[in-house]
Amino acid sequence: MGAEPYYGPDFGMLESRDPEIAQILIDELDRVRGGIQLIASENFTSPAVLAALGSTLTNKYAEGYPGKRYYGGCEVVDRAERLAVERACGLFGAEHANVQPHSGASANLAAYAALLQPGDTMLAMALPHGGHLTHGSKVNFSGRWFDVVSYGVRRDTELIDYDEVRDLALRHQPKLIVCGATAYPRLIDYTAFRGIADEVGAWLLADAAHPIGLMAGGAIPSAVPYADVVTFTTHKALRGPRGGAILCTRELAGKIDRAVFPFVQGGPLMHVVAAKAVAFREAASPDFADYARRVIANAQALAEALAVEGMRAVSGGTDTHLALIDLRGAGVTGAEAERRCAEAGITLNRNAVPYDPEPPAITSGIRVGTPCVTTQGMGPQEVKEIGVLVTRAVRHPGSAAEIRERVAALLAIHRPYLSEY
Ligand SMILES: *Cc1c(COP(=O)(O)O)cnc(C)c1O
Repeated sequence: MGAEPYYGPDFGMLESRDPEIAQILIDELDRVRGGIQLIASENFTSPAVLAALGSTLTNKYAEGYPGKRYYGGCEVVDRAERLAVERACGLFGAEHANVQPHSGASANLAAYAALLQPGDTMLAMALPHGGHLTHGSKVNFSGRWFDVVSYGVRRDTELIDYDEVRDLALRHQPKLIVCGATAYPRLIDYTAFRGIADEVGAWLLADAAHPIGLMAGGAIPSAVPYADVVTFTTHKALRGPRGGAILCTRELAGKIDRAVFPFVQGGPLMHVVAAKAVAFREAASPDFADYARRVIANAQALAEALAVEGMRAVSGGTDTHLALIDLRGAGVTGAEAERRCAEAGITLNRNAVPYDPEPPAITSGIRVGTPCVTTQGMGPQEVKEIGVLVTRAVRHPGSAAEIRERVAALLAIHRPYLSEY
Protein backbone atom coordinates (compact mmCIF):
# COMPACT_ATOMS: atom_id res chain seq x y z
CA MET A 1 0.00 0.00 0.00
CA GLY A 2 1.17 3.52 -0.71
CA ALA A 3 2.62 5.01 2.43
CA GLU A 4 2.58 8.63 1.28
CA PRO A 5 -0.01 10.66 3.17
CA TYR A 6 -2.48 12.73 1.15
CA TYR A 7 -2.09 16.35 2.27
CA GLY A 8 -4.75 17.82 -0.01
CA PRO A 9 -4.91 19.37 -3.47
CA ASP A 10 -1.83 21.28 -4.69
CA PHE A 11 0.05 20.63 -1.50
CA GLY A 12 3.44 20.69 -3.21
CA MET A 13 2.82 24.25 -4.30
CA LEU A 14 1.79 25.36 -0.83
CA GLU A 15 4.98 23.81 0.49
CA SER A 16 7.10 25.89 -1.85
CA ARG A 17 5.18 29.15 -1.29
CA ASP A 18 4.46 28.97 2.45
CA PRO A 19 6.49 26.32 4.22
CA GLU A 20 5.29 27.45 7.66
CA ILE A 21 1.61 26.80 6.94
CA ALA A 22 2.53 23.67 4.92
CA GLN A 23 4.30 22.35 7.99
CA ILE A 24 1.17 22.89 10.08
CA LEU A 25 -0.84 20.85 7.58
CA ILE A 26 1.75 18.08 7.77
CA ASP A 27 1.81 18.15 11.57
CA GLU A 28 -1.97 18.10 11.84
CA LEU A 29 -2.31 15.16 9.48
CA ASP A 30 0.48 13.41 11.39
CA ARG A 31 -1.41 14.03 14.61
CA VAL A 32 -4.62 12.62 13.16
CA ARG A 33 -2.86 9.64 11.59
CA GLY A 34 -0.89 8.98 14.76
CA GLY A 35 -3.91 8.30 16.96
CA ILE A 36 -7.39 6.87 17.04
CA GLN A 37 -10.05 9.53 16.59
CA LEU A 38 -13.19 8.81 18.58
CA ILE A 39 -14.62 12.33 18.58
CA ALA A 40 -18.24 11.70 17.62
CA SER A 41 -18.61 14.94 15.67
CA GLU A 42 -15.57 14.48 13.42
CA ASN A 43 -14.92 12.57 10.22
CA PHE A 44 -12.51 12.40 7.26
CA THR A 45 -13.78 14.01 4.08
CA SER A 46 -12.96 12.53 0.70
CA PRO A 47 -10.25 14.05 -1.53
CA ALA A 48 -13.06 15.14 -3.88
CA VAL A 49 -14.61 17.22 -1.09
CA LEU A 50 -11.16 18.66 -0.27
CA ALA A 51 -10.59 19.52 -3.93
CA ALA A 52 -13.84 21.51 -4.12
CA LEU A 53 -12.94 23.25 -0.84
CA GLY A 54 -9.51 24.18 -2.12
CA SER A 55 -10.89 25.75 -5.29
CA THR A 56 -11.22 29.20 -6.86
CA LEU A 57 -14.94 29.26 -6.09
CA THR A 58 -13.82 30.83 -2.79
CA ASN A 59 -13.25 34.06 -4.74
CA LYS A 60 -16.81 34.64 -5.82
CA TYR A 61 -19.22 36.99 -4.10
CA ALA A 62 -22.72 35.60 -4.55
CA GLU A 63 -25.06 37.28 -2.05
CA GLY A 64 -28.56 36.11 -2.77
CA TYR A 65 -29.73 32.89 -4.37
CA PRO A 66 -29.26 31.28 -7.82
CA GLY A 67 -30.81 33.52 -10.47
CA LYS A 68 -31.37 36.31 -7.88
CA ARG A 69 -27.90 37.49 -6.90
CA TYR A 70 -26.74 40.94 -5.86
CA TYR A 71 -23.48 40.54 -7.82
CA GLY A 72 -22.70 39.99 -11.48
CA GLY A 73 -20.86 36.97 -12.81
CA CYS A 74 -22.70 34.43 -10.69
CA GLU A 75 -23.96 32.28 -13.56
CA VAL A 76 -21.28 29.64 -12.99
CA VAL A 77 -21.45 29.40 -9.20
CA ASP A 78 -25.26 29.34 -9.54
CA ARG A 79 -24.84 25.90 -11.10
CA ALA A 80 -22.96 24.67 -8.02
CA GLU A 81 -25.61 25.93 -5.61
CA ARG A 82 -28.48 24.58 -7.74
CA LEU A 83 -26.80 21.17 -7.77
CA ALA A 84 -26.22 21.28 -4.01
CA VAL A 85 -29.88 22.19 -3.40
CA GLU A 86 -31.20 19.54 -5.84
CA ARG A 87 -28.97 16.88 -4.36
CA ALA A 88 -29.90 17.76 -0.78
CA CYS A 89 -33.62 17.66 -1.63
CA GLY A 90 -33.16 14.35 -3.47
CA LEU A 91 -31.03 12.77 -0.75
CA PHE A 92 -33.44 13.63 2.06
CA GLY A 93 -36.75 13.79 0.21
CA ALA A 94 -37.15 17.42 1.28
CA GLU A 95 -39.28 20.08 -0.41
CA HIS A 96 -36.71 22.83 0.05
CA ALA A 97 -33.05 23.12 1.00
CA ASN A 98 -30.85 26.06 1.92
CA VAL A 99 -27.19 25.10 1.65
CA GLN A 100 -25.66 28.46 2.62
CA PRO A 101 -25.38 28.34 6.44
CA HIS A 102 -21.73 28.56 7.42
CA SER A 103 -22.18 26.15 10.33
CA GLY A 104 -24.70 24.23 12.38
CA ALA A 105 -24.95 27.14 14.80
CA SER A 106 -25.66 29.59 11.94
CA ALA A 107 -28.30 27.21 10.58
CA ASN A 108 -30.05 27.21 13.96
CA LEU A 109 -29.76 30.98 14.30
CA ALA A 110 -31.40 31.40 10.88
CA ALA A 111 -34.09 28.81 11.58
CA TYR A 112 -35.02 30.52 14.86
CA ALA A 113 -35.00 33.89 13.12
CA ALA A 114 -37.42 32.52 10.53
CA LEU A 115 -39.86 31.14 13.10
CA LEU A 116 -39.55 33.31 16.23
CA GLN A 117 -39.41 36.87 17.50
CA PRO A 118 -37.14 37.81 20.41
CA GLY A 119 -38.88 36.94 23.67
CA ASP A 120 -40.88 34.06 22.16
CA THR A 121 -40.98 30.76 23.99
CA MET A 122 -39.18 27.70 22.69
CA LEU A 123 -38.88 24.22 24.17
CA ALA A 124 -35.62 22.36 23.66
CA MET A 125 -33.39 19.74 25.24
CA ALA A 126 -31.28 20.84 28.21
CA LEU A 127 -27.56 21.11 27.53
CA PRO A 128 -26.53 18.93 30.52
CA HIS A 129 -28.82 16.19 29.18
CA GLY A 130 -27.32 16.18 25.69
CA GLY A 131 -28.74 19.31 24.05
CA HIS A 132 -26.61 21.84 22.17
CA LEU A 133 -25.49 25.35 23.19
CA THR A 134 -27.80 26.75 20.51
CA HIS A 135 -30.77 25.07 22.18
CA GLY A 136 -31.10 27.75 24.82
CA SER A 137 -27.90 27.98 26.81
CA LYS A 138 -27.54 31.27 28.70
CA VAL A 139 -24.10 31.84 27.15
CA ASN A 140 -25.57 31.56 23.63
CA PHE A 141 -27.85 33.91 21.64
CA SER A 142 -30.62 31.32 21.94
CA GLY A 143 -30.76 31.59 25.72
CA ARG A 144 -30.41 35.37 25.66
CA TRP A 145 -33.03 36.18 23.04
CA PHE A 146 -35.70 33.58 23.66
CA ASP A 147 -37.65 32.37 26.62
CA VAL A 148 -36.33 28.84 26.73
CA VAL A 149 -37.97 25.95 28.52
CA SER A 150 -35.87 22.78 28.71
CA TYR A 151 -36.74 19.11 28.83
CA GLY A 152 -34.37 16.29 29.73
CA VAL A 153 -34.02 12.56 30.07
CA ARG A 154 -35.54 10.40 32.80
CA ARG A 155 -33.27 9.48 35.66
CA ASP A 156 -34.16 5.77 35.48
CA THR A 157 -34.09 5.11 31.71
CA GLU A 158 -31.86 8.00 30.62
CA LEU A 159 -34.19 8.35 27.64
CA ILE A 160 -36.07 11.51 26.61
CA ASP A 161 -39.10 11.86 28.84
CA TYR A 162 -41.88 12.38 26.26
CA ASP A 163 -44.46 12.81 29.01
CA GLU A 164 -42.38 15.66 30.41
CA VAL A 165 -42.02 17.17 26.91
CA ARG A 166 -45.79 17.10 26.49
CA ASP A 167 -46.50 18.50 29.96
CA LEU A 168 -44.04 21.36 29.44
CA ALA A 169 -45.47 22.06 25.99
CA LEU A 170 -49.03 22.20 27.33
CA ARG A 171 -47.99 24.39 30.23
CA HIS A 172 -45.74 26.86 28.37
CA GLN A 173 -47.31 26.84 24.87
CA PRO A 174 -43.98 27.26 23.02
CA LYS A 175 -44.02 28.64 19.50
CA LEU A 176 -41.19 26.26 18.60
CA ILE A 177 -40.18 22.81 19.80
CA VAL A 178 -36.62 21.70 19.09
CA CYS A 179 -35.66 18.05 19.07
CA GLY A 180 -32.16 16.81 18.43
CA ALA A 181 -29.05 16.63 20.54
CA THR A 182 -25.32 16.56 20.57
CA ALA A 183 -24.82 13.74 23.08
CA TYR A 184 -27.90 11.51 22.96
CA PRO A 185 -27.12 7.97 21.81
CA ARG A 186 -30.68 6.83 21.11
CA LEU A 187 -33.17 7.33 18.30
CA ILE A 188 -35.48 10.28 18.73
CA ASP A 189 -39.19 9.59 18.43
CA TYR A 190 -40.11 12.18 15.80
CA THR A 191 -43.69 10.92 15.65
CA ALA A 192 -44.08 11.73 19.35
CA PHE A 193 -42.56 15.19 18.90
CA ARG A 194 -44.80 15.88 15.88
CA GLY A 195 -47.84 14.88 17.89
CA ILE A 196 -46.90 17.20 20.77
CA ALA A 197 -46.09 20.09 18.40
CA ASP A 198 -49.47 19.66 16.67
CA GLU A 199 -51.28 19.50 19.99
CA VAL A 200 -49.96 22.93 21.05
CA GLY A 201 -49.70 24.49 17.57
CA ALA A 202 -45.88 24.80 17.66
CA TRP A 203 -43.38 24.55 14.86
CA LEU A 204 -41.16 21.46 15.08
CA LEU A 205 -37.47 21.87 14.36
CA ALA A 206 -35.25 18.79 14.26
CA ASP A 207 -31.60 19.65 14.77
CA ALA A 208 -30.06 16.60 13.10
CA ALA A 209 -26.47 17.91 13.14
CA HIS A 210 -25.18 14.62 14.46
CA PRO A 211 -27.29 11.84 12.92
CA ILE A 212 -27.96 13.40 9.49
CA GLY A 213 -25.34 11.18 7.86
CA LEU A 214 -27.04 8.09 9.26
CA MET A 215 -30.35 9.39 7.89
CA ALA A 216 -28.74 10.06 4.50
CA GLY A 217 -27.55 6.46 4.41
CA GLY A 218 -30.97 5.17 5.43
CA ALA A 219 -29.52 3.55 8.56
CA ILE A 220 -31.94 5.31 10.95
CA PRO A 221 -35.37 6.91 10.37
CA SER A 222 -35.26 10.37 8.86
CA ALA A 223 -36.60 13.45 10.67
CA VAL A 224 -37.59 15.09 7.38
CA PRO A 225 -41.15 13.71 7.09
CA TYR A 226 -41.99 14.91 10.63
CA ALA A 227 -40.28 18.24 11.19
CA ASP A 228 -41.20 21.60 9.66
CA VAL A 229 -37.51 22.46 9.60
CA VAL A 230 -34.43 20.24 9.80
CA THR A 231 -31.09 21.90 10.50
CA PHE A 232 -27.85 19.98 10.19
CA THR A 233 -24.10 20.14 9.82
CA THR A 234 -22.37 18.72 6.78
CA HIS A 235 -19.10 17.77 8.50
CA LYS A 236 -20.12 15.20 11.10
CA ALA A 237 -21.35 11.69 10.19
CA LEU A 238 -22.28 13.05 6.73
CA ARG A 239 -18.56 13.37 5.93
CA GLY A 240 -18.74 16.61 3.96
CA PRO A 241 -17.05 20.00 4.36
CA ARG A 242 -17.42 22.00 7.58
CA GLY A 243 -20.75 23.79 7.27
CA GLY A 244 -24.48 23.79 7.85
CA ALA A 245 -27.70 23.42 5.89
CA ILE A 246 -31.45 23.66 6.38
CA LEU A 247 -34.26 21.54 4.96
CA CYS A 248 -37.86 22.71 5.22
CA THR A 249 -41.33 22.52 3.82
CA ARG A 250 -42.29 24.50 0.71
CA GLU A 251 -44.44 26.66 3.00
CA LEU A 252 -41.40 27.87 4.96
CA ALA A 253 -38.94 28.12 2.05
CA GLY A 254 -39.14 31.91 1.64
CA LYS A 255 -38.90 32.58 5.38
CA ILE A 256 -35.88 30.29 5.79
CA ASP A 257 -34.09 31.73 2.76
CA ARG A 258 -34.61 35.33 3.91
CA ALA A 259 -33.46 34.39 7.42
CA VAL A 260 -30.17 32.93 6.12
CA PHE A 261 -29.60 35.86 3.76
CA PRO A 262 -29.87 38.78 4.35
CA PHE A 263 -30.83 38.37 8.02
CA VAL A 264 -27.99 36.23 9.41
CA GLN A 265 -25.31 35.98 6.75
CA GLY A 266 -23.72 37.91 3.91
CA GLY A 267 -22.09 36.22 0.96
CA PRO A 268 -22.17 32.42 0.86
CA LEU A 269 -18.94 30.40 0.78
CA MET A 270 -19.31 29.08 -2.76
CA HIS A 271 -16.36 26.69 -2.51
CA VAL A 272 -18.03 25.15 0.55
CA VAL A 273 -21.39 25.06 -1.22
CA ALA A 274 -19.71 23.14 -4.07
CA ALA A 275 -18.06 20.79 -1.57
CA LYS A 276 -21.46 20.22 0.06
CA ALA A 277 -22.80 19.23 -3.37
CA VAL A 278 -19.95 16.72 -3.71
CA ALA A 279 -20.70 15.30 -0.26
CA PHE A 280 -24.45 14.98 -1.01
CA ARG A 281 -23.61 13.06 -4.17
CA GLU A 282 -21.26 10.76 -2.27
CA ALA A 283 -23.86 10.24 0.46
CA ALA A 284 -26.41 9.09 -2.13
CA SER A 285 -24.24 6.11 -3.12
CA PRO A 286 -24.79 2.51 -1.99
CA ASP A 287 -21.28 2.63 -0.50
CA PHE A 288 -22.37 5.39 1.83
CA ALA A 289 -25.50 3.48 2.90
CA ASP A 290 -23.19 0.61 3.78
CA TYR A 291 -20.90 3.05 5.62
CA ALA A 292 -23.78 4.44 7.70
CA ARG A 293 -24.82 0.93 8.77
CA ARG A 294 -21.23 0.04 9.68
CA VAL A 295 -20.85 3.22 11.74
CA ILE A 296 -23.77 2.12 13.93
CA ALA A 297 -22.62 -1.52 14.16
CA ASN A 298 -19.21 -0.25 15.23
CA ALA A 299 -20.66 2.09 17.86
CA GLN A 300 -22.68 -0.80 19.27
CA ALA A 301 -19.60 -3.05 19.31
CA LEU A 302 -17.60 -0.30 21.04
CA ALA A 303 -20.30 0.33 23.68
CA GLU A 304 -20.51 -3.43 24.34
CA ALA A 305 -16.75 -3.80 24.64
CA LEU A 306 -16.65 -0.92 27.12
CA ALA A 307 -19.57 -2.38 29.10
CA VAL A 308 -17.79 -5.75 29.35
CA GLU A 309 -14.90 -3.86 30.93
CA GLY A 310 -17.25 -2.24 33.43
CA MET A 311 -17.75 1.11 31.71
CA ARG A 312 -21.47 1.63 31.45
CA ALA A 313 -23.08 3.22 28.42
CA VAL A 314 -25.72 5.81 29.33
CA SER A 315 -29.17 4.33 28.52
CA GLY A 316 -27.52 0.91 28.23
CA GLY A 317 -26.19 1.26 24.69
CA THR A 318 -26.65 3.11 21.43
CA ASP A 319 -28.76 3.15 18.25
CA THR A 320 -26.49 5.65 16.53
CA HIS A 321 -22.86 6.53 15.87
CA LEU A 322 -22.05 7.58 19.43
CA ALA A 323 -22.12 6.34 22.99
CA LEU A 324 -21.95 8.25 26.22
CA ILE A 325 -19.94 6.46 28.88
CA ASP A 326 -20.66 6.99 32.55
CA LEU A 327 -17.38 6.89 34.50
CA ARG A 328 -18.87 7.26 37.96
CA GLY A 329 -18.30 3.54 38.56
CA ALA A 330 -14.69 3.78 37.35
CA GLY A 331 -13.70 6.43 39.87
CA VAL A 332 -12.29 8.77 37.20
CA THR A 333 -13.66 12.13 36.00
CA GLY A 334 -14.36 12.81 32.34
CA ALA A 335 -11.57 15.37 32.18
CA GLU A 336 -9.03 12.92 33.61
CA ALA A 337 -10.21 10.12 31.31
CA GLU A 338 -9.89 12.42 28.30
CA ARG A 339 -6.32 13.26 29.33
CA ARG A 340 -5.32 9.64 29.94
CA CYS A 341 -6.74 8.51 26.60
CA ALA A 342 -4.92 11.35 24.82
CA GLU A 343 -1.68 10.16 26.36
CA ALA A 344 -2.38 6.67 25.01
CA GLY A 345 -3.04 7.95 21.47
CA ILE A 346 -6.84 7.96 21.63
CA THR A 347 -8.65 11.26 21.05
CA LEU A 348 -12.11 11.62 22.59
CA ASN A 349 -13.97 14.23 24.61
CA ARG A 350 -15.24 14.48 28.15
CA ASN A 351 -18.98 14.90 28.31
CA ALA A 352 -21.59 15.45 30.99
CA VAL A 353 -23.79 12.46 31.71
CA PRO A 354 -27.42 13.04 32.72
CA TYR A 355 -27.67 14.34 36.32
CA ASP A 356 -23.90 14.76 36.37
CA PRO A 357 -22.64 15.89 39.79
CA GLU A 358 -19.43 17.34 38.27
CA PRO A 359 -19.19 20.80 36.64
CA PRO A 360 -19.19 21.02 32.79
CA ALA A 361 -15.40 21.51 32.60
CA ILE A 362 -14.82 18.25 34.51
CA THR A 363 -17.86 15.97 33.95
CA SER A 364 -18.33 12.31 34.83
CA GLY A 365 -18.40 10.94 31.32
CA ILE A 366 -16.77 10.58 27.95
CA ARG A 367 -18.38 10.58 24.53
CA VAL A 368 -17.12 8.16 21.90
CA GLY A 369 -18.12 7.99 18.25
CA THR A 370 -17.28 5.79 15.28
CA PRO A 371 -17.61 7.94 12.11
CA CYS A 372 -13.81 8.36 11.82
CA VAL A 373 -12.68 4.80 12.52
CA THR A 374 -15.36 3.48 10.16
CA THR A 375 -14.19 5.79 7.38
CA GLN A 376 -10.71 4.33 8.01
CA GLY A 377 -12.12 0.87 7.30
CA MET A 378 -12.21 -0.52 10.82
CA GLY A 379 -14.87 -3.09 11.72
CA PRO A 380 -16.29 -4.55 14.94
CA GLN A 381 -13.12 -6.60 15.58
CA GLU A 382 -10.85 -3.55 15.64
CA VAL A 383 -13.42 -1.47 17.46
CA LYS A 384 -13.70 -4.06 20.24
CA GLU A 385 -9.96 -3.86 20.67
CA ILE A 386 -10.27 -0.07 20.87
CA GLY A 387 -12.83 -0.54 23.65
CA VAL A 388 -10.32 -2.60 25.60
CA LEU A 389 -7.61 0.00 24.98
CA VAL A 390 -9.84 2.88 26.13
CA THR A 391 -10.65 1.08 29.39
CA ARG A 392 -7.03 0.23 30.00
CA ALA A 393 -5.96 3.81 29.29
CA VAL A 394 -8.59 5.16 31.68
CA ARG A 395 -7.88 2.66 34.45
CA HIS A 396 -4.10 2.28 34.15
CA PRO A 397 -2.48 5.57 33.21
CA GLY A 398 0.93 3.91 33.59
CA SER A 399 0.31 1.72 30.54
CA ALA A 400 0.02 4.59 28.04
CA ALA A 401 3.20 3.66 26.17
CA GLU A 402 2.12 0.06 25.75
CA ILE A 403 -1.34 1.13 24.54
CA ARG A 404 0.25 3.51 22.06
CA GLU A 405 2.01 0.53 20.48
CA ARG A 406 -1.27 -1.28 19.97
CA VAL A 407 -2.82 1.90 18.61
CA ALA A 408 0.07 2.13 16.15
CA ALA A 409 -0.47 -1.49 15.08
CA LEU A 410 -4.16 -0.80 14.38
CA LEU A 411 -3.28 2.36 12.47
CA ALA A 412 -0.61 0.63 10.40
CA ILE A 413 -3.48 -1.17 8.63
CA HIS A 414 -6.20 1.49 8.86
CA ARG A 415 -4.71 4.90 8.24
CA PRO A 416 -6.71 7.86 6.91
CA TYR A 417 -5.54 9.87 3.92
CA LEU A 418 -3.21 7.39 2.28
CA SER A 419 -2.08 8.58 -1.12
CA GLU A 420 -4.57 6.31 -2.89
CA TYR A 421 -7.43 7.07 -0.49
C1 LIG B 1 -22.52 20.23 16.21
C2 LIG B 1 -23.88 20.71 16.53
C3 LIG B 1 -24.30 22.00 16.18
C4 LIG B 1 -23.37 23.11 15.71
O1 LIG B 1 -22.58 22.89 14.66
P1 LIG B 1 -21.36 23.91 14.37
O2 LIG B 1 -21.07 23.65 12.94
O3 LIG B 1 -20.28 23.53 15.32
O4 LIG B 1 -21.84 25.28 14.62
C5 LIG B 1 -25.63 22.34 16.38
N1 LIG B 1 -26.48 21.48 16.92
C6 LIG B 1 -26.11 20.23 17.30
C7 LIG B 1 -27.11 19.32 17.91
C8 LIG B 1 -24.79 19.82 17.13
O5 LIG B 1 -24.43 18.61 17.54
